[in-house]
Amino acid sequence: MPLNEAAKKKFVAFLESKSLRITSQRHAIINTVFSTDKHFTADELLAWAREKDKSVSRATVYRTLPLLTESGLVREMDFGKDYKFYDPNYADHPHHSHLICGDCDKIVEFDDEKLEKLECEITEKLGFSIKSQRLQITGTCEEMKRLGSCKNKCH
Ligand SMILES: [Zn+2]
Ligand SMILES: [Zn+2]
Repeated sequence: MPLNEAAKKKFVAFLESKSLRITSQRHAIINTVFSTDKHFTADELLAWAREKDKSVSRATVYRTLPLLTESGLVREMDFGKDYKFYDPNYADHPHHSHLICGDCDKIVEFDDEKLEKLECEITEKLGFSIKSQRLQITGTCEEMKRLGSCKNKCH
């Protein structure tokens, strides 16, 4: 996937607004995050960023992730596991939902206008206005259903 230049630019401006330096380690992390559409864990990000720059440390990854979520360009997701997932796709698709396989952590995104409409109707009926929404469905992926376990368990 090509680098999402617009998202990268926004994040760099966000760091500058906080007077934070963009070190070469941070640069490698930013380039990694904004050139994938996969949902990742902190450990995955560390491994991917190290492919670009061997000097990237775990500490820098852990310091950069909260900045990425604070900027609104990446969203932290909790599926009730020991680790969090990070989603780089909110920058371009602010309204989408997730299915996750409880076994292999395969994540699938979906987006449905009917669902969006229903959420608006329910919210309005109850006298609220929507600030943010998230729908997460934990389930059993195709392979798990077929074979009883998933080959690609990665965590
Ligand atoms: Zn997503
Ligand atoms: Zn699975």
